[in-house]
Amino acid sequence: MNNVLIYTENFDGKFKKSIYEIASYGSEIARQLGGEPIAISLGEVAEEELKSLGNYGISKVLTAAGETFKTLQNRAYTAAIAQAAQQENAGVIIFSASNTAKAIAPRVSVKLKAGMVFAATGLPSNLNPFTVPKKVFHGKAFADVVVNSERKIISLSQNSFGVKEHPAEVTIEALQVEAAAPANTRVTDTQKASGKMLLNDAEIIVSGGRGMKSADNWQPIEELAAILGAATACSRPVSDEGWRPHAEHVGQTGKIVAPNLYFALGISGAIQHLAGVSSSKVIVAINTDKDAPIFQAADYGIVGDVQKVLPQLNEAFRKFKAEN
Ligand SMILES: Cc1cc2nc3c(=O)[nH]c(=O)nc-3n(C[C@H](O)[C@H](O)[C@H](O)COP(=O)(O)OP(=O)(O)OC[C@H]3O[C@@H](n4cnc5c(N)ncnc54)[C@H](O)[C@@H]3O)c2cc1C
Repeated sequence: MNNVLIYTENFDGKFKKSIYEIASYGSEIARQLGGEPIAISLGEVAEEELKSLGNYGISKVLTAAGETFKTLQNRAYTAAIAQAAQQENAGVIIFSASNTAKAIAPRVSVKLKAGMVFAATGLPSNLNPFTVPKKVFHGKAFADVVVNSERKIISLSQNSFGVKEHPAEVTIEALQVEAAAPANTRVTDTQKASGKMLLNDAEIIVSGGRGMKSADNWQPIEELAAILGAATACSRPVSDEGWRPHAEHVGQTGKIVAPNLYFALGISGAIQHLAGVSSSKVIVAINTDKDAPIFQAADYGIVGDVQKVLPQLNEAFRKFKAEN
């Protein structure tokens, strides 16, 4: 069981950056185990898109589409992934640490009696015993988790391994899915947020906290987001106050995001907020309080009044954009 199975979740038929990251990660684990990295894709995904997985070391992609996989049906998805793992002799199954994985990975874990590490932060530090690092206490500490079961499941925290190109010959095979137990829920209608950029997809996020003082002060945040092609987000009190929609709230009880660049404007950096943003590659903070905890997490910090600093920053970005 040296093979590694990677579940490549898609959004409207397209893979997100996190999928190329777990493809790279799973390929590296397969290399360490001396096995084959195999992807499984459920739902309609174009052949070119499936083949793109070959750029990250994947040598085989199993696919299943049709009515059953049109929307997320936990039982059907679980059955297909478990079947593929058994059929392909996969000892390790990889997910990205997404909401979909939260719904499916524990079910696959029960079905295959596989120990699971959710939101791992790197490669196994040891193969025997199989030991995987992960964050605990919302990123305040790290733990090395030993998985003793024969099969192992890992979900990988975004931006913790990176996307690594490693071209391989890739073949695409249809997975003959055995009939799963009938779904106990049925999706009758879906409505997608439109117009604005989705937070989970955004490479840049401009986020405001209670330090913005009022809903009326959001114009410079919207402006910075427009200049940079970024999404907007906020801390929980801001959405609780009704200054911004709940869909923008990030953190422990909101969305978990992992952009390349996260602006924290008038945000204190409470542990519950950082739990949702600490996988960002670069964090820039503006805060009047030089001792605010956000500066411990930030890569760049400006101590100052956001109402004064942000317009200057916007002006500088606008000028830079016009000149380049
Ligand atoms: C169970 C639980 C779950 C939670 N989940 C979440 C969650 O998912 N997400 C979340 O965000 N929070 C969450 N919280 C709340 C969290 O504990 C904090 O209360 C919250 O993150 C604080 O939001 P804030 O930083 O916007 O506001 P504040 O803590 O009020 O901080 C405002 C900051 O703005 C600065 N400031 C003030 N004026 C200015 C100015 N003019 N210019 C620049 N800076 C200025 C201040 O110095 C301060 O640092 C949760 C709490 C609990 C108990």
